[in-house]
Amino acid sequence: MIRHGPSGRRPAVVAALVLAAGALRLTACGAPLAVTDLAADDGLRWYKGNTHTHTTESDGDSPPDTVAAWYRDHGYHFLVLSDHNRLTSVGALNALYGRDEGFLLIRGEEVSDVFAGKPVHINGLAVDSLVAPQGGATVVELLQRNVDAIRAAHGVPHINHPNYFAAVSPEDLMQVRRTRLFEVYNGHHPVANEGGNGVLPLEEAWDRILSAGLTVYGIAVDDAHHFKEPERTTKAGPGRGWVMVRARRLTADSILASLERGEFYATTGPELSGLRITRDEYVVAVAPAAGRTERIQFIGDSGKVLLDVPGPFGRYAIRGTEGYVRARIVGSDGKKAWTQPVRPVSPR
Ligand SMILES: [Zn+2]
Ligand SMILES: [Zn+2]
Repeated sequence: MIRHGPSGRRPAVVAALVLAAGALRLTACGAPLAVTDLAADDGLRWYKGNTHTHTTESDGDSPPDTVAAWYRDHGYHFLVLSDHNRLTSVGALNALYGRDEGFLLIRGEEVSDVFAGKPVHINGLAVDSLVAPQGGATVVELLQRNVDAIRAAHGVPHINHPNYFAAVSPEDLMQVRRTRLFEVYNGHHPVANEGGNGVLPLEEAWDRILSAGLTVYGIAVDDAHHFKEPERTTKAGPGRGWVMVRARRLTADSILASLERGEFYATTGPELSGLRITRDEYVVAVAPAAGRTERIQFIGDSGKVLLDVPGPFGRYAIRGTEGYVRARIVGSDGKKAWTQPVRPVSPR
């Protein structure tokens, strides 16, 4: 298991087992690696999903059934409809499109608040009732009040597009409790994932937060609004960023629990055929994709690149002094994927 976050007296333990259904198997710790064609044998599967999508129930251009059909027809296993300050019903859609272990719609809401004229948005995944924007005297207080309201509605929060209008800084994010998920990539074109004008790229913001000893997990989302002319870069089309979640069942509870444990990766293109993290090593195998090669970069404290190797296979031997270790996969086409950080034990 992964122990999450700063653990007080005892160092956090790296011992995640996250194993893809397809290609990679490692022998016991410290023994040579062996790549085999492994079918998942631990009862866990990978599920592809998007946790941030709009429909005509708020400012999307297509009705919920069109949106649900797009994702179902494009190989997704789950989709959260997250209209602004609205809880779009998914019951009838699940009756129409849902399929056991095939496709699941999850209720959600983008709690859309404003601070000092800037949009501050927090998704509530699987909330059981509508959450009104809570406001706050500071952006941190506003974030916390909305996170707490989402938790009170039995939902899972994730903090959306922090760089949109430069509304939420890494220092703000560090102060918010009871939430672990934030969007390291959002497909809506004006959200400034890469920063600029004095704002850090979100991936650098992530490293700053991790280097401060806090553990947060980066998700990638579409924030899709436009299913008409979805390819246009000035439109917020679907299929741009998603998560691959390792879970036991295609249920909201199982998927969201895995997300909150960091048992997933985020991507805008590259997909993995294997991922295994033990206390001794962090191993990534990238699935082949036509026309794309990849580099696999292992990242540690302060965003330092610990190891940079050509794909499709990368293995980093954990020393225990890294503070944290995560991996970034960079495609030759500019597409990226991000695996989640773990915190090594103290040096051996
Ligand atoms: Zn938003
Ligand atoms: Zn949105």
